[in-house]
Amino acid sequence: MKRKHDRVIVIGGGPVGCVTALLLAQKGIPVTVAEKEAGMVLDYRASTFHPPTLDLLEESGVTEALVHMGLKCTTNQFRDRKKGKIAEFDMSVLKNDTRHPYRLQCEQFKLVDWAYGVLGKMPNVELLFRHEFSSLTQSEDGITVTLDSPEGQRTVKADVVIGTDGGRSAVRKNLGIEFEGFTYPEHFLVAGARHDFKKQMPDICSVNYTADPDEWYLLLEIPDMWRIITPADPNIEPSEAVKEERLQSSLQNIAPRTEPYEILVKGIYRVHQRVAKTYRQGNVFLAGDACHLNNPLGGMGLNGGLQDALSLCGRLSKVWHGTAPDAELDGYEPQRLPEAINAIHAITQRNKKLLEERDTVVRERNLAEMAAIAADPKRAYQYMLDAAMITSLRRSGMLR
Ligand SMILES: Cc1cc2nc3c(=O)[nH]c(=O)nc-3n(C[C@H](O)[C@H](O)[C@H](O)COP(=O)(O)OP(=O)(O)OC[C@H]3O[C@@H](n4cnc5c(N)ncnc54)[C@H](O)[C@@H]3O)c2cc1C
Repeated sequence: MKRKHDRVIVIGGGPVGCVTALLLAQKGIPVTVAEKEAGMVLDYRASTFHPPTLDLLEESGVTEALVHMGLKCTTNQFRDRKKGKIAEFDMSVLKNDTRHPYRLQCEQFKLVDWAYGVLGKMPNVELLFRHEFSSLTQSEDGITVTLDSPEGQRTVKADVVIGTDGGRSAVRKNLGIEFEGFTYPEHFLVAGARHDFKKQMPDICSVNYTADPDEWYLLLEIPDMWRIITPADPNIEPSEAVKEERLQSSLQNIAPRTEPYEILVKGIYRVHQRVAKTYRQGNVFLAGDACHLNNPLGGMGLNGGLQDALSLCGRLSKVWHGTAPDAELDGYEPQRLPEAINAIHAITQRNKKLLEERDTVVRERNLAEMAAIAADPKRAYQYMLDAAMITSLRRSGMLR
């Protein structure tokens, strides 16, 4: 790669952008991060980090920070609202496949906050807050990016641009790349509450997927509260859907108690299954939600985005330092795009179908099948390799 500006611009300082910048800067590549917000935003979407993401991020120091801030959850359950526990999976059987045989629960904003602190101290990193991507042009002279800042429009030049600006990616739209897929009709409600669910429901563990034809739910323990994810009627305005009485009623339906719940966090999300037609145009690349969106049932979106960052940054640093030809970068999309479909979409869609199934016969069959998988050590092991994204990373060559 002929370098004219000796700089990579990362657009979007969310979790994927921060980790991308960190991985590049650690390899001696000068990076500018342009983030439209004024600083870290409290974002309660992702909380699950899967084993191979933690394995692959060890060298960067990200894993140590996450483990320090997070909660290790070794078991997870598939449950039925009426029947209770159907299947339990113990991830410690993955101990020969990963150095982190557990799901780590840590909110994504904590990763961003930590990363801003580290990036802020690195001499080859420029962190530009309140800088919103507006457009870019590519030419023989490299890439010119226009950013809107409080001081007006500003142009920055770079050799490579990485768009990590989330699902509504302005970079992707600027390049005219299609974002194929669909949007689920229902909304997803996320609430965070403090309550001793384990005392009230003694057989649950920290990660519980509960099927119900009317109102399935996810109950996840995170370091300082429990998170509940459940579907919400799209005909109800988001501001109405997160009203105190509705949230209290959803929580009381899960675990009744006499006094009201202390609700600390609430939000309504639209959820999509979409993958960008391409992850690259010239020397502009997409990573994270900018190029793939999926439902949160399996905790795979951010993990997939961080795995994109690992693939892309590893390749780019080799090309940058002349230890691999430019063609190394051609391998990014074929390594990552098929996994967004074959692993992330396949598993998250399967999980949603299992939880919401309304047909009584199919439902019973599903529950019996989940119980049979958990009861058979070989099948349970394979199920956990898939759910932990180890199968995907092996298939794509990112893990041996
Ligand atoms: C309810 C819910 C629960 C989830 N749980 C999990 C989970 O447990 N595990 C998991 O792996 N995934 C989970 N996900 C998915 C996860 O939240 C996303 O995959 C993740 O946030 C993607 O990170 P990102 O950095 O690619 O994008 P984002 O987090 O969206 O960050 C994009 C960044 O770009 C900035 N930006 C946007 N536009 C511009 C612009 N024009 N110029 C400059 N900056 C810009 C934004 O301000 C933001 O900081 C969940 C999603 C939902 C909805």
